[in-house]
Amino acid sequence: MKAHLYPEQELRRRAMGWALRLKVNPGSLRFEALKDRWGYCSLTGDVALALDLVDQDERFQDYVIVHELLHIRVRSHGKRFTALLSAYIPDWRDLEPPMDGTGPNGCEVGRRESGRNHRVAGDKDGR
Ligand SMILES: [Zn+2]
Repeated sequence: MKAHLYPEQELRRRAMGWALRLKVNPGSLRFEALKDRWGYCSLTGDVALALDLVDQDERFQDYVIVHELLHIRVRSHGKRFTALLSAYIPDWRDLEPPMDGTGPNGCEVGRRESGRNHRVAGDKDGR
């Protein structure tokens, strides 16, 4: 009998798979009931993903996962970041939700309620 993973475990497995592929090692990877965003990456490399991401399309899940994990390597949303993102998620521009507010401590992808500009704390090479 095949053991079924809970959706959250499945998503974690997916995220850890991406972490290996992207060669990043998140300080922690949590799933939280984030109400206003899909994912979060702190300046210290702790990644949180919204629990209800499990209800989303897999392509969108991958986008949010890769976006946040890449922030461990590239803090800003500059050219280096978008180049890496495009390498792994070529159609991310189609998937992008009204993207990203900026928290005081890091990236918050996909602010759900508004289309605020996408910025990230400590943005250096972004313009
Ligand atoms: Zn971001």
